[in-house]
Amino acid sequence: MADALRVASRLNREGLLATIDLLGENVTCERDACESAAEYLSLLDEIKDKGIASAVSLKLTHLGLDLSDALAKENLESIVKKAASLGISVRIDMESSKYTQRTLDIFLRLRKEYENLGVAAQAYLFRSADDIKRLMEAGASVRLVKGAYKEPPDVAFESKEDVDRNFSILMKELISRGSRPAIATHDERLIAEARGFAQERGIPKTDFDFEMLLGIKRTLQRDLAKAGYRVRVYVPYGPQWLPYMLRRLRERRENIWFLVKNVWD
Ligand SMILES: Cc1cc2nc3c(=O)[nH]c(=O)nc-3n(C[C@H](O)[C@H](O)[C@H](O)COP(=O)(O)OP(=O)(O)OC[C@H]3O[C@@H](n4cnc5c(N)ncnc54)[C@H](O)[C@@H]3O)c2cc1C
Repeated sequence: MADALRVASRLNREGLLATIDLLGENVTCERDACESAAEYLSLLDEIKDKGIASAVSLKLTHLGLDLSDALAKENLESIVKKAASLGISVRIDMESSKYTQRTLDIFLRLRKEYENLGVAAQAYLFRSADDIKRLMEAGASVRLVKGAYKEPPDVAFESKEDVDRNFSILMKELISRGSRPAIATHDERLIAEARGFAQERGIPKTDFDFEMLLGIKRTLQRDLAKAGYRVRVYVPYGPQWLPYMLRRLRERRENIWFLVKNVWD
């Protein structure tokens, strides 16, 4: 946690916002789920005490969704309630499609009480257009991502072209009609498109965020911030790093060589 806070603080000095994520997912016992929630509560105190401009991101299966909806909701509510009292935002990451409906149900129930709660939506899912419509009607802040899980062809677009096309459509919906959306991609073509689209319609640069992962496209992150955009960097930490790292390796094969080289260096 100390490392994550230090990195977030450095990002702030470079003009970037952060969102800190305690790595972990699919916990199998109530004790682990409650420990994750407790760690988030301490993280919120540290963010506040150190005056860091950071949100927190979390996964519902880390808070017990595989055990029961009630457990995940209870743990989430304790975090969101405390975050609200400290003026900090919380964003639910979106996991594989088998959790989408339950994640949205829990989100929409709590969003009625807590305005500091947002959620992610994945452009590769066919259902996301409808989900985003519903989320926008509820005034929710949505982080749009392409999607990082292996999904069957009956629920998700398979080709990069189709995913990118859907991302572009949903991104424009969110920028023009959403409430504080976050466009989370490192895709320079889509980022340029978002900028051009907002500019043409006279939408202020600060009405939406760009979000990227720590260490990816660092120059672009800083250039966007210098150009007056709000850029939020996802800072993951903690011992449960393997599933997150495997998703990053799947996204870009060169990362395997990067990893091997750094182990050997
Ligand atoms: C802030 C944030 C939060 C996210 N939250 C979620 C979530 O809740 N649920 C979910 O399913 N997914 C989430 N993701 C992951 C997302 O779904 C994509 O898998 C990931 O962002 C890669 O897609 P891309 O949009 O960057 O586009 P891509 O087309 O995959 O990549 C565009 C370019 O970015 C660079 N790039 C992309 N990925 C990498 C990498 N791993 N290493 C090095 N360079 C890379 C490459 O230059 C690549 O050509 C999140 C991503 C971000 C940035």
